[in-house]
Amino acid sequence: MDSVTTAACCEQVRQCVQERLGESRFRTWFEDATFSPEGEVLVVQVNNHFVGKWIAANYLDDLFSTWRELLGHGERVDVRIVVSGPGSAAGECPPVTAGGRSRRPSSHGSRSLATKSSELDDFVVGPCNAMAFAAASTLARSCGRAFKLLVIHGGVGLGKTHLIQGVCGSIRRGDATVECRYITGEQFTNEFILALRSGRIDQFRMRFRNVDVLAIDDIHFLADKKGTQQEFLHTYNALDLGGRAVVLTSDRHPRTIARLSEPLIDRLISGMVVSVEAPDLATRREILARMASKRDQTLPDEVLDFVATHVTRNIRELEGALNTLIGYAALSHAPITVDVARTALRDRFVQAGPGLQPRDIERVVAQHLGVSAEQLCSRSRDRTVSLARALAAFLMRRHTDLSYPEIGRALGKKNHSTVLMATQRMEKLLHRDGEVTWKNGAELHHSPLRAMLETLERQLSPAVA
Ligand code: ADP
Ligand code: MG
Repeated sequence: MDSVTTAACCEQVRQCVQERLGESRFRTWFEDATFSPEGEVLVVQVNNHFVGKWIAANYLDDLFSTWRELLGHGERVDVRIVVSGPGSAAGECPPVTAGGRSRRPSSHGSRSLATKSSELDDFVVGPCNAMAFAAASTLARSCGRAFKLLVIHGGVGLGKTHLIQGVCGSIRRGDATVECRYITGEQFTNEFILALRSGRIDQFRMRFRNVDVLAIDDIHFLADKKGTQQEFLHTYNALDLGGRAVVLTSDRHPRTIARLSEPLIDRLISGMVVSVEAPDLATRREILARMASKRDQTLPDEVLDFVATHVTRNIRELEGALNTLIGYAALSHAPITVDVARTALRDRFVQAGPGLQPRDIERVVAQHLGVSAEQLCSRSRDRTVSLARALAAFLMRRHTDLSYPEIGRALGKKNHSTVLMATQRMEKLLHRDGEVTWKNGAELHHSPLRAMLETLERQLSPAVA
């Protein structure tokens, strides 16, 4: 393809991205970007490290697929994001490429920018993860002599990978002769299948049975995979016999991983099983402060409070919010204030666009539970009505800037301690992954609270629906 044509394609990619993002978001992230061709490579040049990182993490996929569509499926089609200009220190941000061809571009791209080793020392400890941290540190310190099997379970973005990698790093640093192998459940499965196909199962077994510590992240990936589960069980038994240690993470308690063999479940729960929970406000705040300082930033107290109050679900989201905020402030040359945070993070508060009114929340909750708006604001103590009220209060707290007294007023002059208690009840239930029960007509319904909140939040957010 000649250079005139590739230059035209660059312009088309720019326009496609602009259409897809809308004017204001495009201006935020791409205003100063230049799009130029280097053979079959689209080079997107930005002059700010955070913007580069943001684009790599969020838009590389889009850029790559649009570019490939326009250019055809050439061998060297790729997208590279480079940071240059006065805003970036030399070497601060290595160029990121989509990696093209058969690889998933964005994950590769974002990984290469975001790669970092997770250390136990960087882990912020709060009530939500203290047990898990203590267990991980003990295993690392004693190199498996204190106990031989540790299973860390919990939802997405709550620090499981950080802990398991921290254990490996800490063991390796403590004694370079100890062999510690870290692998994900997915890689373990793939390598096992490959070994079977290529008749190299002995090498596979050597690799996993001759280590001092085996760490497998996301073991729930083995659900449904009978052969791999069996192989893992043999691996585990061999390591156990040899007095070696095994560390695993999973997105849920081993007993509730569907389609895991009974013998494997028995094995897993014979170990030290600890959970990581969603962080409370104080821990979220501390994590933010710590993450900001690692990025050489100091956030004012009120900004820490604001972000920690609004970004509640998990730590990965907190990290994303912080990156966005720092990037946005750098880009707009603005100091980091609550107002800047509100604007920068608008898209993240779903969910909580500034337009989200208490009455939207009331309407969605009332409809979902089959109660009327009047009942919601009444003094009724009916179980379903009370649940609806607690859910509405919780969602207002999460997605609006209303104070407890204001929420009380929105819900029919309830006093602020009633609102506080109701939201705390929801928070506690959420922490222990509890269920809610309600009656719609004569029918009794049950749902995990987490799933119920997700449904309601989807309805509140046209962007997410
Ligand atoms: P999971 O594996 O549970 O999905 P991760 O370990 O990938 O979650 O955590 C998501 C992000 O949050 C990572 O960047 C991780 O370093 C960070 N993180 C998680 N928990 C903590 C913590 N307690 N202190 C500091 N950073 C944390
Ligand atoms: Mg993980």
